[in-house]
Order: sequence, then C-alpha cells, then structure tokens
Amino acid sequence: LLAPACADTAVTPADLRAVGLRARARWLPIDRWTAEYQNYFQRHVHDGSLVLDPTAIVMHYTAGPSLDQAWNLFDRGAWYDDGDVGRVYGHLSSHFIIDRDGTVYCCVPTDRRCRGAYGVNHVAMSIEMVGRDERAVLDDAALVQASFTLVDYLCRRYHIPPSRVWGHYQVAEGRRVVPDYLDYGDHQTPDGYPRSAWRTDPGKDYMQMLWRHLQAKGEPSRNNRSERRRGRKS
Ligand SMILES: [Zn+2]
Repeated sequence: LLAPACADTAVTPADLRAVGLRARARWLPIDRWTAEYQNYFQRHVHDGSLVLDPTAIVMHYTAGPSLDQAWNLFDRGAWYDDGDVGRVYGHLSSHFIIDRDGTVYCCVPTDRRCRGAYGVNHVAMSIEMVGRDERAVLDDAALVQASFTLVDYLCRRYHIPPSRVWGHYQVAEGRRVVPDYLDYGDHQTPDGYPRSAWRTDPGKDYMQMLWRHLQAKGEPSRNNRSERRRGRKS
C-alpha cells in the first residue's frame, strides 16, 4: 500500500536556481514507459506504483563524455539483464544529470520512481554526473561543486541523512551494505548485484568528499524528521 502522495511536490528547476544552481528541465519521456516501469517495479519490489517518496540518494557518473550521450541512451533504451526474465529491452533513467559545467538537468520528477540504481529504485533518487570515470569528475570543479549543492539541497528538502547518500558501488554490494536493497525479481542473486555487474561509480574519493561536505553542513534535525512523519499521517 502506498502512502497518499506525500506533501512534498517534485523539485523544479526554479527550486534549484533559488539555491544558486544553474538548472534546466530536460525531462525524459517517462510517460511512454509507464507499462514497462510498472512491470519492472511489480517484478522487483512487488509494488507496481511509480510514485516515489524519496528517502535516499544514489550518486553515479555516466561513464561517457557528454550530457547528450547519457540522456540519449536513457531516451533510446537498450537491452538489459533483468533478473529472472533475462535480457529485456528497457529504459534506464535518472532524476538528475549534472553536466561538466555544473548545469543540473532535471530528467525525472522527484516524486516518480526512476531506474537509476537497480535494487533501491523504490526508495532512492539518482544523480548522474557527466564523466568517463572518477578522475574526470574530480577534475571538473564546477561539476563537483554543483553536485554538493544539489545533494545538500535534496537532503534538506527530504530530510535525508548523509548515511543514506550512497555511491552506486555500495548499492551493487547489496543488502549487507545497503539494507534497503530489495529484489524479488532475481532468484539467482536476490541480495545484491552479481559480481560481474559490480559498479565502481562514482568512486570512493568522490563519496568521501561528498560525505565530509554534508557532515560539515550538519544533519537535518530530529524535530524536522518527526514533524514530517506527523505531517504524512494526516
Ligand atoms: Zn551508476
């Protein structure tokens, strides 16, 4: 059962501009993928809803050179291993893609589930950073700074503690690292990614820097969190 749509509405580019980010909408055509996504979430978490009430964030890099390359791959779709059903054509996606110049592109509304991090897509927002690897990301100061500002904003808005900001490589290790990991749709490896599919993005050095930044900013207060829970029950 789903909680009634949470009080929070989705993050807009204007919200992000208000905290000093350069931000634009470049929505993915997720409404075309409704049946595909409902089927995916039904199989993997036994809940076909597409509504997201975000309680975590997953960080990624695109492993490619440009925003267009990443966005177009999401848009086009591809064949993916999808657990028990084998290889199926589908569309991955991410809530945000941050370009090398620090511009944040809003691609999936934050009140909708994306397919950015297999295993936690039912609870997490995903953020992609344009870069071939961790080194490329760390070399782009504008990108790194924008990512810190974006994550900090999302953590405050959704009362997410730094401990629930994960690198994709942590999610890949599955339930023993990320207890929220859930997958009813792969009976071979239900508790994490098969070793052949382990991830390294966005890198441990980047994540250490991000966590230090978030910790320096302070965790959301307990009061805020309980306020929010009270609000949701009404
Ligand atoms: Zn990733």
